[in-house]
Amino acid sequence: MTENLNKIYVKDYQSIPVVVNENVSVYDAIVTMFLEDVGTLFVVDANTYLVGVLSRKDLLRASIGKQELSTLPVNIIMTRMPNITVCEKDDQLIGVAKDLIHKQIDSVPVIKKTEKGDLEVIGRITKTNITKAFVALADEY
Ligand code: ADP
Repeated sequence: MTENLNKIYVKDYQSIPVVVNENVSVYDAIVTMFLEDVGTLFVVDANTYLVGVLSRKDLLRASIGKQELSTLPVNIIMTRMPNITVCEKDDQLIGVAKDLIHKQIDSVPVIKKTEKGDLEVIGRITKTNITKAFVALADEY
């Protein structure tokens, strides 16, 4: 089992990421989260490089304040770089699963580093992807 587990990589289970620009409003991010049916949005700058993460609770927290959501940009409330946990397509999935547990988060972006060190978002791994891998592993026995 351990041997098979170590052969499961991020690229085998990653899904398509949903990203928003850092200047969009909290209101629009909430709409995007509903329409795209995801629990986490990744936030990118004008060059489409990763700058932050928005979870459901980040958006809920902003919504219970007295702020005007349609004019409040998401870069004010997001969790920002360099505090973002990321992974790469050739990483072992078990390592990402451990990150989700230890950091108490639901999702990590799959990134590709450019030569200048910027992060392109190319996928996402969520608890659902890990669960799918877990079930596939069980089916092998
Ligand atoms: P929720 O807040 O809806 O329970 P999470 O548990 O994923 O969802 O997020 C908890 C906190 O961690 C949020 O403030 C969120 O911005 C942050 N967060 C989520 N994913 C990451 C990540 N990959 N790296 C760093 N911080 C993250």
